[in-house]
Amino acid sequence: MNSTKPFVEVKNVSKSFGSNEVLRSLDLTVQVHEVVCVIGPSGCGKSTLLRCIDALEPIDDGMIIVGEVVASHPAVDVNHLRRFVGIVFQSYNLFPHLSVMDNLCLGPVKVLREPKEVARERARSLLEQVGLPEKADAYPEALSGGQQQRVAIARALAMKPDLLLLDEVTAALDPELVDEVLSILSDLAEAGMTMIIATHEMAFARDVADRVCFLSDGSIYEEGPAESFFARPQKPRTQSFLKRITDAGRL
Ligand code: ADP
Ligand code: MG
Repeated sequence: MNSTKPFVEVKNVSKSFGSNEVLRSLDLTVQVHEVVCVIGPSGCGKSTLLRCIDALEPIDDGMIIVGEVVASHPAVDVNHLRRFVGIVFQSYNLFPHLSVMDNLCLGPVKVLREPKEVARERARSLLEQVGLPEKADAYPEALSGGQQQRVAIARALAMKPDLLLLDEVTAALDPELVDEVLSILSDLAEAGMTMIIATHEMAFARDVADRVCFLSDGSIYEEGPAESFFARPQKPRTQSFLKRITDAGRL
């Protein structure tokens, strides 16, 4: 690992919901241009971790720094943070009453204060990038799940984020629609986008991640470069998790 300052620093973070301690003294650093996949069984805290990084959840202890911003500070300027951190959820959360074009332009015009024509121009090129140039005037309900998720990714990209958080973005999709979304993430990784990706798609994680982190018992239990992580997991819980995945034919 090089010695440059990480872009994301999660330091000793703990987070409980009532008596349920979800994150326990969790540490994670992510470098600029790094793609980190966070894996682990359902309920292990992947979404919570991403939501804490995006200041959607307060933490109980520790510190989270993104770029120059202390995201975990109770008085963090979330609007400032969200200008350079994009998040995409499992449920695409598009605005149903807005066309695809207007979904893509809302943030840039309202938050970044871009002239409408500039925002529209970029929206058109983003729709090109996610393979939906003909859908600018469509409404979300007229699109397939995979198409909606591609629009949701384009909408996040329209804010020109420095960091993209992706929370199980293919989990709600029919299997045949998964690849069209994953291939966009591969392209983004190739283009150098810094990403933290919570995913159940192990083959994707193996192929696209620079580093894979296995979340267990509230912290990063084992991590490593994608290839060796999957080929030679070192610790027992990682081994049994990956064995279950392999036995189920998912790797
Ligand atoms: P994952 O994304 O890995 O499936 P989550 O981060 O969604 O895991 O959930 C981790 C744990 O935190 C689960 O036990 C879940 O029930 C609990 N949890 C998540 N969000 C909330 C919330 N808003 N209120 C109470 N409990 C929550
Ligand atoms: Mg989740």
